[in-house]
Amino acid sequence: MNHAIHGWSLFTLISMKNTFCAVLFAVLFPIASAGAVATATLPAPRDIPFKGEIKLSVDATDQVHKILRVRQTIPVQGKGAMVLMYPQWETDSHSATQQLTGLAGLIVKAGGRRVEWLRDGGDPYAFHIDVPKGARELEVEFQFLSPTAGNTLMSRDMLTLPWQKVALYPAGWFIRNIAVRAELKLPAGFQYATSLETAAVRDQLVSFKPTTFDDLVDAPVHAGRYFKRIELTPGAARPVRLNMIGDNEAALAIPPALLDKYRAMATALPSLFRSQHYRHYDFLLTLSDILPSGGGREHQESSENNLALDFFTRPDAHLPMADLIVHEYAHSWNGRFRQPADLWSPTMNQPVRGSLLWVYEGQTEFWGRMLAAQLGLRTRQQTLDALAVDAANAVARTGRQWKSLLDTTNDPLYMPGRQMQWRDWQRREDYYGEGVLLWLDVDMLLRERTGGKRSLADFAGAFFGAGAMGRHALATSTYTFADVCKTLNAIALHDWAGYFNTRLRAHDDGHLLDGLARAGYRLVYTDEATEYFVQNEDFNVGGMDLSASLGVTVGKKGVVKTVAWEGPAFRAGIGIGARLTTVGEQPYTDEALKQAIKSAAATKQPISLGFDADGRSQTVLIPYYGSLRYPRLERLPGKPDRLERLLAPSPSAL
Ligand SMILES: [Zn+2]
Repeated sequence: MNHAIHGWSLFTLISMKNTFCAVLFAVLFPIASAGAVATATLPAPRDIPFKGEIKLSVDATDQVHKILRVRQTIPVQGKGAMVLMYPQWETDSHSATQQLTGLAGLIVKAGGRRVEWLRDGGDPYAFHIDVPKGARELEVEFQFLSPTAGNTLMSRDMLTLPWQKVALYPAGWFIRNIAVRAELKLPAGFQYATSLETAAVRDQLVSFKPTTFDDLVDAPVHAGRYFKRIELTPGAARPVRLNMIGDNEAALAIPPALLDKYRAMATALPSLFRSQHYRHYDFLLTLSDILPSGGGREHQESSENNLALDFFTRPDAHLPMADLIVHEYAHSWNGRFRQPADLWSPTMNQPVRGSLLWVYEGQTEFWGRMLAAQLGLRTRQQTLDALAVDAANAVARTGRQWKSLLDTTNDPLYMPGRQMQWRDWQRREDYYGEGVLLWLDVDMLLRERTGGKRSLADFAGAFFGAGAMGRHALATSTYTFADVCKTLNAIALHDWAGYFNTRLRAHDDGHLLDGLARAGYRLVYTDEATEYFVQNEDFNVGGMDLSASLGVTVGKKGVVKTVAWEGPAFRAGIGIGARLTTVGEQPYTDEALKQAIKSAAATKQPISLGFDADGRSQTVLIPYYGSLRYPRLERLPGKPDRLERLLAPSPSAL
């Protein structure tokens, strides 16, 4: 551990001695006037006890300005300097996604007297404090300025609170060793849910039982005016609860048939993973058109699932999101309880690496697809259609030529918040969809090699389940690539390391659809889109998806959103952002373009497309005769249907 704070030492020298040469002073002065400390060595985290507990108080009642007001008292641990950290790396994004711009108004005091902080010159998330002699604790206050639109945490009727946005912690300790006692002031009329345990509630001030900083940031709070809680496993020793907040009361009307499926889910996953690594589990659901929707965040004892306002009132209209809740629940085992060793970090400010995200996300996505089918959240046909979209997307990733699947596990390090216009060529976190295909193949291989006796469910139970730590262990258990191979080898002997390395490093799609073939299926394209494809097109493209045919996606008003790398449209000279104006002799409409693609296939006459781009109008002829192409799965003649058992509508089929 090194508390050296070079910048301060230099300031001291400058003020005490006037013998510095002018050149050196000129070099140093900008640092002094900028108010930042030159890069200092920050105290390395150590696995040692932290004395006392941090008190954290958050006031979330300013809904008008969407400001969260924070007060903390942090016990001083010894003499001299202290460094307070604002969390930067977020566990669920596997990335340094926490924005520092939201933190404002930071004032630090000791014994009621203000103490200046100095931001670290090398790490803007670190604040150096010169703790006055005799001070027992630091009093800290700041605000978190939640975005007022877009990625907001608050609306008039809702609040989602990730604690990492509203808490500083001292550098030098593993955060699992730092005790925290948190309290939260809620707006009038709000009810709340979290996996944190409540000590007391008075006048909308919720006091939580003490926990560790590590567990606190893994236990967000959802609160709202329109709130409903349903016990999914009444009377269970480890209760599973469904907590919903919505923009309005009507949004919370979950259909009884869907609720039954979630009840079945709450027993199906513990049965698959042969364990429960939680004291209780809280699904936190937002049903909103105001807060962001369409994503989830995993935690060990809860998950955040952001759904559209009409998710329950029009359940058939949300097929692409039908397995989100299962996916996030599976992460309690795959991701939170068992973590890839290089993704684990002792604090939220140490970089992590995601070399095993194809297990963490890939296998979770696989179980999401399969369990959604078994639980009836999607029909068998909808599941086959979803797998067809996974397969077609994977095939279309021409970027594999230069960027392997393994390299996509680095994407969280540099892609979040950045626009990727050439998704097929740049690739982005493809370990989700390609993970589904990979683990399907592993499942099929295990069945093949054991005469149908063993499957990936055996891996799930052995690897994410009890292990040496017991069925209800809470502490994180890390693993390596070798551990994955070892567990698979105990089920069926194979060169698993070689198997994965070949697929993870491939620059061709030779093995991409092996799992489907082993299952007795192949990917085909027809000119009729499946129901799943249409919903996915609307959800992910927000327009018309002709990626597999003409090589474009088209948004509103005929604007080209993406162009397939070196596809027909690309080669014809159509770029991203072009506005399509004519199809043949007619004004452009989506329908007219589809018709033209079909006609070209029949007549073998090129498609004439007019468009405006970069301030000029032009018309191109596209020699594409392949008709519309929408993915679906087809049975391979003469091969047994091995998906049948995997998708059977009962978890016992596992
Ligand atoms: Zn995930």
